[in-house]
Amino acid sequence: MAKYDINYSCGHSARIDLYGPERDRQRKIAWFESDGHCSDCYRDKKRTEEKAVGPTFYARGTAAGVVEIICYKNSYDIKDQLKERGYLFYDEVPAPGSLATALFAERYRVPGWMLTLAAGPDRHARIAAEANWIYGHKWKLSAQSTLGATFANMIEQRSDLVGSDQL
Ligand SMILES: [Zn+2]
Repeated sequence: MAKYDINYSCGHSARIDLYGPERDRQRKIAWFESDGHCSDCYRDKKRTEEKAVGPTFYARGTAAGVVEIICYKNSYDIKDQLKERGYLFYDEVPAPGSLATALFAERYRVPGWMLTLAAGPDRHARIAAEANWIYGHKWKLSAQSTLGATFANMIEQRSDLVGSDQL
């Protein structure tokens, strides 16, 4: 191990530890200086990339027959719209994950907005309205597989719904 002064491509520099064969160290240094970012700039870059994806939604059905439509990423810019549409903010909402990953449930609970649609005669229309709104903005919507069929059915009946490849 040795200390190296690195001039990152973002213009910042830092003294870092490098390990391993000299050849690999030199290759890392070359990469840091041509493409690497300091840790602050790297974090900012990641945040910008994440934001560029835009609001991201997830729909799921619960055992009680309730459909939940959840905005779990980049909700801040549309929080007023979400509130107006009846979404409520929670410190923890479920994010998509498989049954296996659900064992680590705390990793799949993030702050976000959730619309809860109980079973009822207008539920399909309300789900369709949400799907239409989300797809209309070209935001991402994914659905649990059991819900996929429900969304697909609605889309067949509503030619104004687009983006069914997401389901
Ligand atoms: Zn930097």
